[in-house]
Amino acid sequence: MSKPRVAIFDFACCEGCQLQIVNLEAEIVDLLSIIEPVQWREGMSDHSDDYDIAIIEGSITRPEDEERIRKIREKAKILVALGACATIGGVNKLKNHGPLEDMQKTVYSKDFSLPHLATMQTKSVADVVKVDVYIHGCPIDKKEFTYIIRCLGAGKTPNIPDYPVCVECKKAGNICRYEYNEICLGPVIRAGCGAKCPSNGFWCFGCRGFVDDPNVNAARDVMEKYGKTMKDLEEKLMLFNT
Ligand code: SF4
Ligand code: SF4
Ligand code: SF4
Repeated sequence: MSKPRVAIFDFACCEGCQLQIVNLEAEIVDLLSIIEPVQWREGMSDHSDDYDIAIIEGSITRPEDEERIRKIREKAKILVALGACATIGGVNKLKNHGPLEDMQKTVYSKDFSLPHLATMQTKSVADVVKVDVYIHGCPIDKKEFTYIIRCLGAGKTPNIPDYPVCVECKKAGNICRYEYNEICLGPVIRAGCGAKCPSNGFWCFGCRGFVDDPNVNAARDVMEKYGKTMKDLEEKLMLFNT
């Protein structure tokens, strides 16, 4: 069986998720026995537009991005969204919370109207084209990336957790951040990171996006129990625009 040909593309992002792939170091060599990279600006100089799997990092923030992602989708048999910018819009969606021109002026000051700085409301990849596989997180988890690529290389569907971060957090034996009078998004956010933030003394910021069917009533009970409101929870959700 021939190896699937893989191309990695970046849109609006910090490229931190691609850096996670580079940081796999020796493990990349193992992955090369499963897949054949044919295009990856950050990692190789060869370039081919003949690919089976397209991995997309970053959000869609300009009209030309929409055109580009549609063309990639037409060619790819499988399209993978890599990291929070691609899966949920991520921090780039912060600019959607106010008038676009105000945001442009805040970032670019007097240069805001220069043509090459033109922008639009941020979209996740799935806001524009069909996404087949999601690799969540900001940045992605290297182990989860390797697992998902192995599954795709073997023609299998990866098993991505659809339960909240709280499950992994409890298993890790952490003291709940609500006991420290903090607001944690763990009750409604998709697990799979091993409750990385609560296990390191922080609340969950929501980088993996909502579980498919978040238990809003349970989240409300938690908020009430600790003297918080759903508005407090919504404000925390704004960072990753989950
Ligand atoms: S998801 Fe986070 S680490 Fe990945 S590209 Fe976006 S901002 Fe960077
Ligand atoms: S709310 Fe946060 S800190 Fe508390 S159990 Fe859930 S994930 Fe852990
Ligand atoms: S705990 Fe929350 S913010 Fe931290 S890595 Fe996991 S999903 Fe992302």
